[in-house]
Amino acid sequence: MPFKDECGVFAIFGHPEAANLTYLGLYALQHRGQESAGIASADGEKLRISRAMGQVAEAFNENTLQTLPGHIAVGHTRYSTAGESKIENAQPFLIDCAHGQIAVAHNGNLVNAQELRDELVRNGSIFQTSSDTEVILHLYARSRAASVEEAITESIAQVRGAYSLALLTKNRLIAARDPHGFRPLALGRLGDAWIVCSETCALDLIGAQYVRDIEPGELLVISDGGIRSIKPFPPQPLSHCVFEHVYFSRPDSYVFGRSVNEVRTELGRILAREAPAGADVVVPIPDSGVCAAIGYAEEAGLPMKMGLIRNHYIGRTFIQPQQSIRHFNVRVKLNPVRSILEGKRVILLDDSLVRGTTSRKIVKMVKAAGAREVHLRISCPPTISPCFYGVDTPIRSELIAATHTTDEIRKYVEADSLAYLSLEGLRQAVGSQQSSYCTSCYTGVNPVSFPRNEHAYLQLALKNVD
Ligand code: SF4
Repeated sequence: MPFKDECGVFAIFGHPEAANLTYLGLYALQHRGQESAGIASADGEKLRISRAMGQVAEAFNENTLQTLPGHIAVGHTRYSTAGESKIENAQPFLIDCAHGQIAVAHNGNLVNAQELRDELVRNGSIFQTSSDTEVILHLYARSRAASVEEAITESIAQVRGAYSLALLTKNRLIAARDPHGFRPLALGRLGDAWIVCSETCALDLIGAQYVRDIEPGELLVISDGGIRSIKPFPPQPLSHCVFEHVYFSRPDSYVFGRSVNEVRTELGRILAREAPAGADVVVPIPDSGVCAAIGYAEEAGLPMKMGLIRNHYIGRTFIQPQQSIRHFNVRVKLNPVRSILEGKRVILLDDSLVRGTTSRKIVKMVKAAGAREVHLRISCPPTISPCFYGVDTPIRSELIAATHTTDEIRKYVEADSLAYLSLEGLRQAVGSQQSSYCTSCYTGVNPVSFPRNEHAYLQLALKNVD
């Protein structure tokens, strides 16, 4: 799966061990970003912060957590969809301005960040990072609004695109979600404490109850005075990211009001009806293809077996051998189980096919392990367009489905057959009215337009991935 995750946000108000629980919450959200992790805490007087490159386990230890006292905390785990991978861009960001100290953790991509940044720089702002999130802080710092809430409202009223935000002041936690609701953001409760997090699996880890989602366009202010919901913006058409269900979110989470596991299994069931194949066994590409493979196998009346085993213990970098080991990058992650594959007609199930290079290697690997036929099934439609709302996709020219027919792709990956889930099937699985989900990476129709020419914007803001 060449998509990288985006970011995870976790925040808590009203708990004496706020930083420790945030640390645990970030563990549950680690799949959303592994480049850097950070926590800011507040004790009613002052904000403190600790950020580091790497995963949560590398970024924090008991000593660093002890430097984060207080009953409020916000944490972030990052994969950079916009801005470089360096410590300056690690979140949360913390600034001190006329409104006092504030820390912010952001999941999503703003589509007009560069335009706003240019304008702010022309007016004298000096940026410390290349992250679009910093734009929100500059707008906040420049606001002449009388209260913190008004200043936040004023600043986010100027940004467009995807944002699920957790903001921390010395005595308040403020959560905000863009009016389209691109990225998830859940509200939870642990005793008297309130929690805001990207996915409900983080609530489960700390034993908290899921209360509801932060609504699109809602600003939730949590303070000693209680919880207050503000809806300062006119409603917009909803654009929940359907890819959260296809791939990003953990199957044990509830996202946009639906169980990810249920949706993902349903993707497989519908795919089995739309694209059957004469086969002996269904094999998922682990881990993300597993739920859809279960659904496919159930519907097709076939056994589902783990014919590929993933190595979970690969660090972020490993020393590459010389060319002598073919397809090393795939081999180090996946290994075929010959006893399952040998002599079999295999339905290989993956959750997406982006460039085709990895799928090609896996099909070859499965065939080399003795599979008689390999029928590749993809539990989403062909990816034909990059994402501008916080998911790191390759540029359009690198998306194989943008320039090739399904049969050309089948030949390239050397599968005996290839089929994708239809867009209709995807919508049916998420149980959506056509309008409530963003499906732009499958249709090229952008729910929120951006002010720059796409190529320039992509070059500027998005990174290429392996
Ligand atoms: S373009 Fe695709 S990945 Fe991006 S927000 Fe829309 S559905 Fe999600």
